[in-house]
Amino acid sequence: MGEKLLAVKSACVITPYEELRPGVVLALDGKVVAVGRPDHVAIPAEAQTLDVGERIVAPGFFDLHIHGAVGHLAGEGPEAVLEIARYLVSTGTTAWLPTVGNMSGVLGVVEARQRQKDGAWIAGIHMEGPYLAPKRLPHDEPVEPPVPTVKEFHSFSEAAQGLLKIMGVAPELDNSHQVIGAMRRAGVVPAVAHSKADYDTFMQAVAAGISHATHAFNVMTGMHHRRPGIVGGVLTCDQLTAELIADGFHVHPVAMDVLIRCKGPERVALITDSVRYQGLPDGDYGRVVKKGGIVRLKGYDSSVDNTMAGSVWPMNHNVANVARLVGLRKAVQMASLTPATIAGCADKKGSIEPGKDADLIVIDDQVRIHMTIMGGEVVYKASE
Ligand SMILES: [Zn+2]
Repeated sequence: MGEKLLAVKSACVITPYEELRPGVVLALDGKVVAVGRPDHVAIPAEAQTLDVGERIVAPGFFDLHIHGAVGHLAGEGPEAVLEIARYLVSTGTTAWLPTVGNMSGVLGVVEARQRQKDGAWIAGIHMEGPYLAPKRLPHDEPVEPPVPTVKEFHSFSEAAQGLLKIMGVAPELDNSHQVIGAMRRAGVVPAVAHSKADYDTFMQAVAAGISHATHAFNVMTGMHHRRPGIVGGVLTCDQLTAELIADGFHVHPVAMDVLIRCKGPERVALITDSVRYQGLPDGDYGRVVKKGGIVRLKGYDSSVDNTMAGSVWPMNHNVANVARLVGLRKAVQMASLTPATIAGCADKKGSIEPGKDADLIVIDDQVRIHMTIMGGEVVYKASE
């Protein structure tokens, strides 16, 4: 009684453990109850059947690191978070960690999660700041680095009410090891973020509990053959997972390939790291200019300083980039199961398997999003 049975048939289902060609997904009351080849999964007569033909069915994407989109930043408050969530389903993202850097950001995400009725599921919070090494552009005055404290960390963690999943810290900051220990005890994943630490300093922080790397290659010490830097540690240390901004601008495809070869798709999570300009057209936005897929602070171009002011690309674009390197199945894995596992949400998200939420996307081989399904309900359909 009141049961809702949905059967999705496709020429290809990426679970992402395997590619079923063809495949069927059966969902009952919003949860996957069966997935397999058509001769192994009987479709009951009462099921509502959706045949997507040659299009591919994959798990919804899980974005661990995203600051904003469609003109909003997650740190601006609950309304902004909810607007971003509503937009994200059109990019194939069905779960995400709004990424903020201070207490008001945390409180806004907590309120958004309590009020959320639609859009990509707010799975928790990623605090990228405030424990970052100060970034200095060529004309900037020097800035005092922050000093993390266990007390302040606990105030963030308590305000987050269990939602704080990942928190960044630069290992060279005073007290970083104490705070890393406190993060681990609180069940928060400590991540190396925005750091100028050398390899040894970094590996001491790994011994203290760092287990994840925020946007590998970006804003961290690079790998020189006598000074392997944080990048060398991330590439060779198997206990670390890593994020990758795969927009095609932040990291060269060869460097992406090296990272994935070293760590495997089960340890590399694709992220957008997008700022408010994802989903907005090119143009002059006051402080920054968006042009040709890149945003830069006004007055900075590749001749002054090569840094960008965040990414502007949606997850499906990034998945398509990585699919060109390693194939679609692994690229989907890095945008679904791997991040869901890192965020501690793999019990119900990240893959198409019995017992998990029926969060599915219908894509083509260019990773264009044709349909997004959450909990067995269609929440987005592209106009064809
Ligand atoms: Zn960052």
